[in-house]
This record gives sequence, C-alpha cells and structure tokens, in this order.
Amino acid sequence: MYRTHNCGELRLENAGKEVTLSGWVQKKRDFGGMTFIDLRDRYGITQLVFNMDDNANLCENARKLGREFVITAKGKVRERSNKNPNMPTGNVEIEITSMNVLNKSETPPFTIEEETDGGEDLRMAYRYLDLRRDSLQKNIIFRSNLAIEARKYLAELDFIEVETPCLIKSTPEGARDFVVPSRMNKGQFYALPQSPQTFKQLLMVAGFDKYFQIVKCFRDEDLRADRQPEFTQIDCEMSFVTQEQILNTFEGLTKHLFKTVLNIEFQDFPRMFYDDAMRLYGNDKPDLRFGMEFVEMNDVAKDKGFVVFDKTELVVGVCAPGAASFTRKELDKLVKWVQRPQIGAKGLVYVKCNEDGSFKSTVDKFFDQDMLKAWAEKFDAKPGDLLLVMAGETDKARKQLSELRLHMGDLLGLRKKEDFKPLWVIDFPLLEWDEESNRFHAMHHPFTSPKKEEIGRMLNGDHETMKSLKADAYDLVINGNEIGGGSIRIHDRELQSKNFDLLGFTKEEAQAQFGFLMGAFEYGAPPHGGIAFGFDRLCSVMAGEEGRIRDFIAFPKNNQGRDIMIDAPSPIDPDQLVELSLDLNIRG
Ligand code: ASP
Repeated sequence: MYRTHNCGELRLENAGKEVTLSGWVQKKRDFGGMTFIDLRDRYGITQLVFNMDDNANLCENARKLGREFVITAKGKVRERSNKNPNMPTGNVEIEITSMNVLNKSETPPFTIEEETDGGEDLRMAYRYLDLRRDSLQKNIIFRSNLAIEARKYLAELDFIEVETPCLIKSTPEGARDFVVPSRMNKGQFYALPQSPQTFKQLLMVAGFDKYFQIVKCFRDEDLRADRQPEFTQIDCEMSFVTQEQILNTFEGLTKHLFKTVLNIEFQDFPRMFYDDAMRLYGNDKPDLRFGMEFVEMNDVAKDKGFVVFDKTELVVGVCAPGAASFTRKELDKLVKWVQRPQIGAKGLVYVKCNEDGSFKSTVDKFFDQDMLKAWAEKFDAKPGDLLLVMAGETDKARKQLSELRLHMGDLLGLRKKEDFKPLWVIDFPLLEWDEESNRFHAMHHPFTSPKKEEIGRMLNGDHETMKSLKADAYDLVINGNEIGGGSIRIHDRELQSKNFDLLGFTKEEAQAQFGFLMGAFEYGAPPHGGIAFGFDRLCSVMAGEEGRIRDFIAFPKNNQGRDIMIDAPSPIDPDQLVELSLDLNIRG
C-alpha cells in the first residue's frame, strides 16, 4: 500500500497512529543523529523524522535522499516538540520505521518553492515542475472547482452539455483562424473554432433548448499578457428567451460561483447602457471599484481663449480624490505618462483644489479663480482633490482619460484585489463603422439581433441610421475585465441576410460562408440567445490575479505563442508535407 493518509491531513488527534505516506521530498535537514524530511503532495507537507539511534541504516538512507525524490514512508504519528503554527500539519511529525524510494529525481533546475529562483522561461520549459509549486497547484484546483460548480449550476437548470467539433469552417468572431490542412481533401483546410457560435445556434434549431459547453476556442491574434491563442469558454445558449432572462440566468451563475468558491454574496448586479459606460468611464468595461466618473466640461472650458480647448470636440476630466498633494515631480510624471505612445495624449491639464479654497492650475493664464471654482463645482471636488482634464476628438479623449483614470486608481490604491464589482453593460451598438476599411463591422458578431424596436430602422434606414442601431447585446464586466459577452440572435433569414449585406458580404460570400446557418433558419428556428464566459479570465479575476491568465492554465503558451516545453510549433517531416500537398507551397 502506498498510503494510508495524504501529506496534508494528519493532526494532533492522530498521535500514536501507524501511517504510511507517499510524496516528494521537499526539503531535507540533516543533523547527524537525526534527519528531517518535509514530504509533499497535493494536499500539504508533513514532517518525517529519521533517528540514527533507532535505525542507523534507515537514517543513512534518508540522508541520501535528494530533492524531489519520490518515496513511501511508514511510521508513527507523534506530537512535535518544535511546532510550526504556519502549517496545518505543524503540530505533528512521523517517526519513520521503514522507507522505500519509489523514484529518484535529478536536481530540479529551480527550487520548487513559492519564492523560486527559476526565471519565467526556465519554469515554462519545465512546466510539470513549476506546477508542483503551491500557488500553481492552488490555481489549477481553483479552476477545477469553478468548472465543477458551473456544471452543477447549469445542470440544475436543465442545461445539457454538448460537444461541438474542432475541425470546422471559419467562424465569425472576427479574429484570424488557425487552420488545419486536410490530407484527404487536397489543398483544403479546416479552421479551428474561434467559438462554437454557429453550432450552438444549430443546436437551438435542433430543439435542445438549453446548451452549455466548457470548450476550447482558438484565435490567432497577436498575444498580450492576458491572451492565449487557445482559451476556454463556458459557452451557453438558450431558446425562447428574452435578454432579461439571459441576464438573470447568468447573473445567477456568477453569483453561484462566487458564493460556492469564494463565499462572497452579491446584491443584484447594476446595469449600465453602453453609451453611459462610454460617457462616464470612456470604456465599455468600466472598473467600478472606484468612482472618478468622467465630467464633460465643454460648457465651462470652451470659449475662454485657451485655443487647445476651443478647437477641440470634447473637454473631459476626472476628479482624483486627495491627489492635490501630488508633488510637482509626480504631476510631471503623470503628464509624461499620458504622452507615452501607448496613450498618445498631447497633454494634460490639472487643477489642484487647495485646502484654503484656492486653485492652482496649469491653465491659470486662461482661467481665473472664479472659472476654476466653476470647474470644481461641476466635479463636486473637495479641497485636497486634483482635477485632471483632457481634450480631443471625443472617442480618443475618452479612451485616453479612461487609461488615466485606471492609472490613478492604481496610484491611489483604489483597485483592491479582494473587492469585486460586477456589472452588466447592455445595449451595445449593432454595428461599428470602420474608417480605415470603409465598412461596417459587427460589434459583437454577425448573428446578433438588433433590438426589436430597431428592426424597422435597420430594414429601411440610411447609412447614418445604421451607425446608431442598438443591439440586444450585453457584456458581463467584473473589475474592468470583460468576463462574458453575448446577445439575442437573429433567427429570421431575411434579417440575417440584411445584416450580412450591411457587413459588406455579397450574397455569394454569405451563402458560401454561412449558408448552412441561413438554411437552418428556414426550418423553424426558435428565438434564441446566449452568452460565453471567458473561463481563464474568470478564474484569474476571481482569484484576484487579473492579468495572470497563464497561471490558471496548466500548459499555457508563452508570449510568442510557443509551448517551449514540447517545442511547438515545430517543422514537420517533409513526407508529411507531401502527404498534405503543402510541399509545393512551402518550396514555391
Ligand atoms: N460566441 C460569442 C463569443 O465568443 C459569445 C456569444 O455570443 O454567445 O464572444
């Protein structure tokens, strides 16, 4: 028998018990007459004691153990004289009477401890060793718990889990596809799904009513810290539902996950119109852990002789509480920060609301104390606050101020890890005009339905009208992260074909790419809608580690999209290329 207990469960009340434990040697402390081993497994660490006086041979063997050797050891639980209150098993140790080495280990390339000495690349190359570290073990188990709880909640509501294929045709999420050459169909390719979108809609046509799947999706995009080329969604779809029912169902799922996994309970999630999110936060995924809402100030800023403001479309600012105490140097740094190419602002105007009721601004020349007072009143600013004002073309100024708002939130410690602020952003635009390509893009995806009351305008309106159409599309946002997004779908062939028109597909293109779906709409498609949660991101945000998605994926890719442990992607055998009819393409 390998074990009677795991390495995390023995306590004082087990003293006197004969036990067998198996695990990895975390640490060895050799005091000559006595050797201590910390034995580790997924459940914890238990101290083993080998005593020279009791069994010299055994103790000699223990002294030879190296880090990460796998052993089975048998002995008696006893109370520890030197207790360790930081460990659940810290009151006991095992007096070992026999031990078996099950496997040796090379000296690991980095220490398998929380404060490891291994760099990122090295740890990625030995991911299976990195995964032995406590924090990564916890993350992966956390993820598993979330997945299990999501399944429980959805199953309870009669959702069924259906697998959809991975070898498909291009899906419409708007990123680049990963493709797989077909050997049997020379010169042809499958695409890996960017999401199961079309299949889940077909499952609704098929009458399954409530579908979910915890599913891999693939998008060949440039990587950022919080993106992976393959990622996981909790993907869901329902028939005969309104937007209201979807929001309630998946707010319920989110509450269930927070309650069961983190023991956190929420009131009902606030809802915000997309237009308001943009106006008040310059962002369709506002971080509501702190205020600092935007204040538009054209009325008090323009026509006062400051040409930067006079010429511009929008003057907009935020009030940073207590930040009037920022030094000149800190403020200069802020100005430089917004001028970095990543933000791209020309400049930043600030107003210190002094404790004595006076104001000090970078535009004193144009705005006297009374005018600045009017500004402060508009912001509801208190003495000690700092107004930060930007100007520019509306979308740009909002975007830049949004970045600055988040940065200030960080600087002022207002974005707390343990604070969770979910909200729904609703009524997204249906279409987005792209100046560069001179065409509309679907804001969510091309199957998203306009709001019912917009259908008339959509069918008959002119170009400008199309820009203002609102959709039954929604995002779930937590702490400034888009956690989920979905929509009510078009289930009518005519409307779907109108949407493809607007998106610039010719009839033939639409038919070639999505004919199967439009065909299905001719056979009694029920009204339906759904949502997908970004599961990796949900894990990292719930664990308070936003932006560290990789730490919640067992085997992630690095920033170049590579798995450096298995060395993928990699060239393939020339014969294989021939077989796939890819040899010509590559040589040619
Ligand atoms: N397929 C969509 C996505 O991946 C989600 C949805 O509309 O249900 O974002």
